[in-house]
Amino acid sequence: STAEEKGLGFKGHDMLAPFTAGWQSTDLHPLIIEKSEGCYVYDSNGKKYLDALAGLWCTALGGNEPRLVAAATKQLNTLPFYHSFWNRTTRPSLDLAKELLETFTASKMAKAFFTNSGSEANDTQVKLVWYYNNALGRPDKKKFIARHKSYHGSTLIAASLSGLPALHQKFDLPVPFVLHTDCPHYWRHHLPGETEEEYSTRLANNLENLILKEGPETIAAFIAEPVMGAGGVIPPPATYFEKVQAVVKKYDILFIADEVICAFGRLGYMYGCDKYNIKPDLVSVAKALSSAYMPIGAVLVSPEISDVIHSQSSELGSFSHGFTYSGHPVACAVAIEALKIYKERNIVEQVRSIAPRFQEGVKAFSDSPIIGEIRGTGLIIGTEFADNKSPNDPFPAEWGVCAYFGAQCQKHGMLVRVAGDNTMMSPPFIMTPSEVEELISIYGKALKATEEYVKE
Ligand code: PLP
Repeated sequence: STAEEKGLGFKGHDMLAPFTAGWQSTDLHPLIIEKSEGCYVYDSNGKKYLDALAGLWCTALGGNEPRLVAAATKQLNTLPFYHSFWNRTTRPSLDLAKELLETFTASKMAKAFFTNSGSEANDTQVKLVWYYNNALGRPDKKKFIARHKSYHGSTLIAASLSGLPALHQKFDLPVPFVLHTDCPHYWRHHLPGETEEEYSTRLANNLENLILKEGPETIAAFIAEPVMGAGGVIPPPATYFEKVQAVVKKYDILFIADEVICAFGRLGYMYGCDKYNIKPDLVSVAKALSSAYMPIGAVLVSPEISDVIHSQSSELGSFSHGFTYSGHPVACAVAIEALKIYKERNIVEQVRSIAPRFQEGVKAFSDSPIIGEIRGTGLIIGTEFADNKSPNDPFPAEWGVCAYFGAQCQKHGMLVRVAGDNTMMSPPFIMTPSEVEELISIYGKALKATEEYVKE
């Protein structure tokens, strides 16, 4: 019988409701969130939930940081809008670019290009790379390699880069210049007896073979999230990024780090690139850049790329790309304040101080007979449900095991992300130790109920 038939009554707030963020309808009886406070949100009936996903992996400073509100209000009262086209711009946009570039130290970054979202940042990456290769006289170096199970966004190109079948099926995607290589999920894909290091070597070899098969002169860039998020929270196996970076470097292929989830402290490092020693040519950020109080994303561009774009732009025509709201002054003012707060409160240390208990407390449930794997690092964690604890034995989809777990969390006052057999959490960076305990306790209650549900 399905979770619904088991009488959980979550039809209204169905965890399996379609992935349709913008398609609003009251017929689906959505859970309406009306207010937020610290790590909690409140629904329209006044019920309080621990927001274990920080909105959508983004409200890093929680739900009511007064300094962000003050920064927005001040900017709204001074200059609510001006654009950043034709060498006109605003002070917040310039200041944010400077502050943001200083936060990234894994490799040198010279310029920031502002967007409204992570998807637009990744679309911008593709255009920057093409423009760069055209300027270098190699217009055929056009293809992108991404990974199965990655998530890079929902616009046509970002969805193409993503490696989730639902984003491709029925949309005629991916576009032909996007290729996908292995998802680096050791638990699911390693061979019997293969170590993590050996597995990483095999994946790097597969990547090299794909490049050779396509022709290195046709491959422009490789894009990767340091820790895969929406694909189920998949941290890389040991030595993975070291080996993959060596391969792309060998063939003069650019490395794009999609830091939309990982940046600004989520992994206990300012950037995922710092944790995994990734030296990218281009970086995408969004989400925690403004702690999600205003929509904003950005692309960080290496001096090698930005120099070529600047020196060539008169010959090729300018880099004709940008959005009305690129560098929106209110979004930039909020982001500047968020970066200031991260620095002043030493947010990376703050994350490091609570992450070990968060990880160890949740991973203590790994022995559950219905859990295949719990994986994560810093303040991000995913649980994959599986029968017989095996990656090859998913529960029947119609049982909705993971959805049942998500609904139980909701019943007990906590919001998590559910996708297929995976449930994911990425709480705000400001979580207190007692909130971590509450999260672990609700997780435990929801798991126990789910174990009973599966047994019936
Ligand atoms: N890249 C990654 C790694 C993401 O997780 C997301 C969103 O979840 C995106 C890109 C897309 O960002 P947005 O939803 O702001 O377009």
